Amino acid sequence: MYYYDAHCHYSYLKKKYENFIIAAVSMDYSTSIETLSLKSPDILAGIGIHPWKVHEENLNKVLELVRKADFIGEVGLDYRYAKADKSIQLKYFEAFAEEASNQKKLINVHALDAWEDAFNILQKHNVKRAIFHWYTGPENLLKEIEGAGYFITVNPSVTFQKKHQNIVIKSPLDIILTESDGGYEYKGRLLEPVHIVEAIKEISKLKGTSEEEVNKIVERNFKKAFG
Ligand SMILES: [Zn+2]
Repeated sequence: MYYYDAHCHYSYLKKKYENFIIAAVSMDYSTSIETLSLKSPDILAGIGIHPWKVHEENLNKVLELVRKADFIGEVGLDYRYAKADKSIQLKYFEAFAEEASNQKKLINVHALDAWEDAFNILQKHNVKRAIFHWYTGPENLLKEIEGAGYFITVNPSVTFQKKHQNIVIKSPLDIILTESDGGYEYKGRLLEPVHIVEAIKEISKLKGTSEEEVNKIVERNFKKAFG
């Protein structure tokens, strides 16, 4: 059985994880180049500029890499922590959304405190495949995410993060993917793909569905999302 990690900063880990399929996201130009070099049957390569890096990264240099990538990410908007002005963040994110649409690629989105704006931009550019990563956003947007055929990811922090648990309770399993956000240190713990097992357990508990069934649905969703 495989586990599916739909959002992992694999270039920060570079370890071999048996029985994992990993969607490797990037933060900026240099990690995008590194992620592309790590591409393998088990590692899908994503390129992008994270909203925290927008203030110091060249947009066009990274846009040129889209063609070589399996998907676009991590990109998006962050109205809480990003250094760049909202207008610059919007410019970068719109450019990536347009590319995702033109090249028919999935886009892996970070949208802290900016969920609705991010969703509207994807719709405006007619993006067909998108993931809202570590979704803790408004409940009322879930219907629209589902209607658009998009997905959300559930992070291992779901074992203790109440608003994330609530999102799992309110979401149909058909829009749920699992992620580690591996390489990122959260509350003193370095996240890694293997922690997805904890996320599966928690989803199973919250949804009253067996772990095996949850993972089967996640597998189906992952294949649909990444194509
Ligand atoms: Zn991330």
